[in-house]
Order: sequence, then C-alpha cells, then structure tokens
Amino acid sequence: MSQPTFNKAQFQAALTRQWQRFGLHAAEEMTPHQWWQAVSGALAEQLSAQPAAKPVKGQRHVNYISMEFLIGRLTGNNLLNLGWYQEVAEVLNKHQVNLTDLLEEEIDPALGNGGLGRLAACFLDSMATVGQSATGYGLNYQYGLFRQSFVDGHQMEAPDDWHRNTYPWFRHNAQLDVQVGIGGKVTKQGLWEPAFTITGEAWDLPVLGYRNGVAQPLRLWQAKHAHPFNLTKFNDGDFLRAEQQGIDAEKLTKVLYPNDNHLAGKKLRLMQQYFQCACSVADILRRHHLAGRKLHELADFEVIQLNDTHPTIAIPELLRVLLDEHQLSWDEAWAITSRTFAYTNHTLMPEALECWDEKLVKALLPRHMQIINKINDQFKVLVETRWPGDKAVWAKLAVVHDKQVRMANMCVVSGFAVNGVAALHSDLVVKDLFPEYHQLWPNKFHNVTNGITPRRWIKQCNPALAALLDKTLKKEWANDLDQLINLEKYADDAAFRAEYREIKQQNKVRLAAFVKARTGIAVNPNAIFDIQIKRLHEYKRQHLNLLHILALYKEIRENPKADRVPRVFLFGAKAAPGYYLAKNIILAINKVAATINNDPKVGDKLKVVFLPDYCVSAAEMLIPAADISEQISTAGKEASGTGNMKLALNGALTVGTLDGANVEIAEKVGEENIFIFGHTVEEVKAIKAKGYDPVKWRKKDKLLDAVLKELESGKYSEGDKHAFDQMLHSLDKKGGDPYLVMADFAAYVEAQKRVDVLYRDEEAWTRACILNTARCGMFSSDRSIRDYQTRIWQAKR
Ligand SMILES: *Cc1c(COP(=O)(O)O)cnc(C)c1O
Repeated sequence: MSQPTFNKAQFQAALTRQWQRFGLHAAEEMTPHQWWQAVSGALAEQLSAQPAAKPVKGQRHVNYISMEFLIGRLTGNNLLNLGWYQEVAEVLNKHQVNLTDLLEEEIDPALGNGGLGRLAACFLDSMATVGQSATGYGLNYQYGLFRQSFVDGHQMEAPDDWHRNTYPWFRHNAQLDVQVGIGGKVTKQGLWEPAFTITGEAWDLPVLGYRNGVAQPLRLWQAKHAHPFNLTKFNDGDFLRAEQQGIDAEKLTKVLYPNDNHLAGKKLRLMQQYFQCACSVADILRRHHLAGRKLHELADFEVIQLNDTHPTIAIPELLRVLLDEHQLSWDEAWAITSRTFAYTNHTLMPEALECWDEKLVKALLPRHMQIINKINDQFKVLVETRWPGDKAVWAKLAVVHDKQVRMANMCVVSGFAVNGVAALHSDLVVKDLFPEYHQLWPNKFHNVTNGITPRRWIKQCNPALAALLDKTLKKEWANDLDQLINLEKYADDAAFRAEYREIKQQNKVRLAAFVKARTGIAVNPNAIFDIQIKRLHEYKRQHLNLLHILALYKEIRENPKADRVPRVFLFGAKAAPGYYLAKNIILAINKVAATINNDPKVGDKLKVVFLPDYCVSAAEMLIPAADISEQISTAGKEASGTGNMKLALNGALTVGTLDGANVEIAEKVGEENIFIFGHTVEEVKAIKAKGYDPVKWRKKDKLLDAVLKELESGKYSEGDKHAFDQMLHSLDKKGGDPYLVMADFAAYVEAQKRVDVLYRDEEAWTRACILNTARCGMFSSDRSIRDYQTRIWQAKR
C-alpha cells in the first residue's frame, strides 16, 4: 500500500464541523486547546474513511495483549506517519495558527508505567509499518500514571486525568460490546454462574504505519455497568443495589496500577487482568467466526502474544470458552490453546514474577481455577515421567503450588513460544529461570532483542538530526534503519562532524530553556549533559549516580582552581507511590541538587536537575540533548532497556554496565565508543556466592566512605541525620546492598574520568557520537517485529 493522500477540501470541511460542534461562529473563536481538538478530530474523521489494509496471505494475525500502552501524544506522530505535516501546517497558517505550538496542547496518554508499556507502543507502530496485521488489546484507564511534583524534595503524586472522554482520536464501536462475568459459583453440572456481569466497551485508537496507508486498531476496553442493569433487582425495588453494581463496574478501569517491575497482588488488579483478557478473547473469536473460520483453525490464523504475565488469565479464558461455550473436548481445546499463545518474559526478579492467591482466583473466577488445576494436573504427568519421584523439581515447575497460581509457569506450560528481550536476558531466562522447562522443550525458547520506533524517537523528537540524515543518506531511513550504517564514513568528515555537533548543541539549548521554564534552574549548554531517565528502582541504581555526583562536588570543593569539564546531571524518574526506598532516593538527589546548585563556589562546573513528571513528551525533549546516557543497572537485572537505544541512536555515549541490551549496543558501536564499567553477571554471582559484605568495600574506598559520611552527617538535609536512612540502610551491612552499589562505585568513577578525557577532544567525541548513530540501526523495533515474525509468529510449525 502507498502513502495516503491528503484531501485539503475534506480536511477543511471536517475542521468546520469540529468548531461548529463547539457551538462557535468561526474557527478564529477557538482556544488553542480547541484547535488541537478540532485538528485531531478532523484528521481522525478523514482516516476512518480510509480502507483497512489487507493482511498478507498466510500470515497469522497478531493479537498483542498488554496491560500497558505508553503511547505518548498521538497527533504529531500520526501527522508524521501520514506524511501530512506540511499540508496541515499550511492550512493552519492561513488561520495564523502554528501547528508545532498546537501539538503541545495534547495531554500525554500515559497508559503505562515505563519500558514495558512503551515497548508495546513501539511494537504497534512497527507492526503497522512492516505490514504485520495486528490488533493491540489494552485497557482504557480513566487515570493514567500519576503526575509527579516535588515539595521540599519529596515526590508528590496527583491523579492524571487525561480527559479520555473528549480525546479526539478515540472511536467507540458499540457493536463490539462484550459481557464479562465475575465471581459466583460453578454448578454441579460444571456450569459457571457469575455473580454479576460487566460490560466491556471497545475504544479504538488508530495505529498508523509509516507512509504506507496501513491503519490498525489499538483496542482499549472500558468497563461499564451492564445495561439494563440487573432488571430483576430493579423490579424488586432493590435498584439501589443494582446501581451500586454499576458504580463498581466503572471502578475497574479507573486507574492504572503505578507499579513497575513489582507485584502488588490486589484483587482489583486481577479483576482488571481478567476483564481485559475476557474482552480480548471474545473479540478475537468474534473476528474468527465472522471470517467463516473453524475453531480448530484458530492457531493457523491468530497468535496471542502476552506482554509479560499480566494477561496470562487469557489462557484459561480461551480454554473455558472452547470447553463451556463451544463444547469442545479438553484435548481439542488444549490443542488449540497451546498453539495460540506466546509469552514475552520481561524480568527475572522474584518480586516481579506474578503469583496469585489460589483463594482469590477461585473467588473471582471459580471455573478458571478448575481449568488451571487441570492444566497443572496434566503437566504433572509429564514431569513425573521425566523426573520420576523428584519432588523438588515439581515444586519448582508446578503451575499451582503452595496455594499460589504462578503465572509465568502457566505461560511456559501452555504456550508455544517464550522469549526474553535481549540476548543476555534470554540466556538467563533459559539458564537461571527456566532450565528444566528448557530441557523439556528446547525449541520453545527464543530471543527477540527489543527495539524502538525511529519514527517517534528520531524523526519526531530530533527533526534537525532527521534532516541531516535525509540530506546525507539520500534514502528513506525511517523504515529501513540499517541505512544508518552508511553514515559511518562521515565520522571522519570534519564538516559533517561540525554539522552533527551543532545539532546536538541546538538541542541542548532547547533543553536548557525547557529546564529553566520547568525548574527555574539555569544550566550551561556547553557542559556535558549527563542524563539518567527511567523509572526509579533500586536495581537501576540512581543512587550510584548520586554518589558519583557527591564525589565530583567534593573534588571541586577541595580543588576549586582545577580546570574541569562542566557537567549538568539530569534525572527524570517516577517512584511507585508505595515504594519508600525509591522515594527516599529521589529526596536525596533533590537535597544534594539544592545544595550544589546554590553553592557559589561551584558555579557552572556542576549542576544537578531532577525534572519532575518524566513522561514520553519529556523524553522527547531530553533524549536529543543528551551527551551521556546513564545505563548503570546491576549486571543481570535490567532485562533489556530501551531508553539506552533511544539515547545511543540520538548520539549520546553510554556509561553502562554489561546488562540487558547494553551488551549488544557495546558490540555494535565498539568498545572505544562506549564507557563500560562494573562487575559482569558472572562476577556478580561469584561475589554474592562468597558472601558479599558492602561495608568491606566501603572501608576500602576512602572517597566512597567520605561521601557516604557526608550523607549521614545531615549536611544536605538541614542537619537531619536520618533524612536518607532508607537509602543508606539499603547500602549497609544489614541492608546488604543487594544491587552492589559499593562494589561498582570505584569502576564507575573511573569510567566517568574517561568521559571527561574524551569530551576534551571535541572531534574525537563527535566521531564517537556519530558512530553510535551509524551503528545502532538494529535497535529499530521494525527489526524486533521481523524477528518475532520469523522466530515465533510465522515460524514453520
Ligand atoms: C523509553 C522509556 C522508558 C524506558 O526506559 P529504560 O531506560 O529502558 O528503563 C520509560 N519511560 C519512558 C517515558 C520512556 O520513553
């Protein structure tokens, strides 16, 4: 398919209908926000008139189920993918309206926490672009990830009302309503009688391929009370209770759980999971039937890809529908289900591996619990045959054990494919997490290294770099990122380097203005912009970064005359509201920042900024302006990372551990163009096996001991010696420093010294940055999607 053509007359007519809908007399009466709404609404209208893309013959349709889609603003991105930016800008110019300003009016749809949700958004973009027929299935939360602000250095949270009811890109299709049962009991005849039902409404957002005419849905389910609500109760005069049920139903999709890489185990969360899965499975089967296909052919036409274990309950749900609503035998239903599901693992950390209380599952979903038990019993036979009498192995592999339902195990047992998200991580999935499963089914396990969409993460957020790439490569690169390799030779071209450097400089100036507006802090655009942006998590080690900042501050005080490369440290990170250690790290960074930024002896040499409310649009401002990308998680803990890819492609040099996709980035860019430091996965294991004692490491290192003493002294906290207790205790003997901050500190400081040395050689630095852009083409999510196609979705079976 080819690029859709912009119809100016149609667009203008649609625009007129939009302002008339607001009850105005002329376009000129619209507020800037109404302009954004009107333009988006007019575009959405024109899009819905476009024909849908035909799936490639023989290709399985992908149903990508994810609890999170961190899509970011849509209007600008849709214009870019359509290739209509210029045309629309011209129409608006006639009304003295600036398109770029107007796009700032959009509130980010923040229906995700971080990496996992953003990955889902990049994958939808890439599936539409490479022509993989797909539907994204998620939840239409009324409140996305909370808004963050700081009061006296503490994180404050406010609800994120993104006004879904007036979001112009939504299309609601009432014909797709689904009824979802919850609770109740299973009768003696084996029939599930739910206590109540909830209506799921389908709210679709368009996902547009890059200039290829493809539009496919991201279908977000929204809970509504069943209509007409419980009539018998209404007739009995008990309508208040019925009404009560309606209110409860709507609670279901009120808010996104703000935990990243952490299970809260709440009943409402399990209800969200089931609601989403029941709606999605019903929708998939509805399409399948409508196409005139038979149930036993389901896996020939449909794949259900589970983004982490959050949608695992879709597995027993499909089995239930096949068994109870279509009267298939267990063997038939199992044959279909086990060829349909594929599972992406995102973490090895035990606290993030989902387990649900058997009692809770049974109370909410009694029929599903029976089915889960049956999966478990059936699998037990296999394990008994393979490892006769081995209780330990069964205790490890069981789907139901110790009154817990283990979602990851259910996925591995019931699906046809399991993948990790970076080469190192996929290795660890096989070796450390699922070795016995791997022995049972060696061909089930795959790696698909994550990626990012170059449309949003280069072309949209860094238009100057995109223009330079256009001009230099003279070929389309935004949907063919391997083209970037042709940039390599320009690393040795002084004129090209000057141009590339000037783009970074302008992006830094733009960010400095943004920082000034948001925080009041003036930063020097000639300093190294050293950026760590990601969720706040102990394993991501923002506090290691902080300790290095303290070391620099100490050096400056002790040797104020020394010639130094100035640095601006920028942080962006939200902590889950109940994650007190993470919040304490935010406080510590903010307090240290306030001290350093107000110390006249420091001046421009060192600034520390914690930008509040990190989100996709903030990322779009920060990433093009970064000189240094901080990717400093403890080796073995970050499954992949995608922020690392966005930053490297935009010409930031990574300071990083050999963790997640950093390993592959290092292989691609070459060791001289990245700053690798710290203990490797094997070394981390060895240190822990010997009995790690963080205090020994601290005492060995004078600098480390000194900066920790300062934090303990109350010097950064108005004399309060306990202000940073949680953070400091996590690093002491009792806390055990589980993420080896002490053990990696010295190597980190040393790596940062190498950064300063290279930065002083402007040409060598720019050369390294160019090579990062040139050599990171494989981190396009288009490549990830093609890997999913060849290894999993469309693999010969
Ligand atoms: C890319 C992205 C992330 C993921 O960052 P990591 O460094 O990979 O953890 C999180 N949040 C937002 C807003 C992003 O754009």
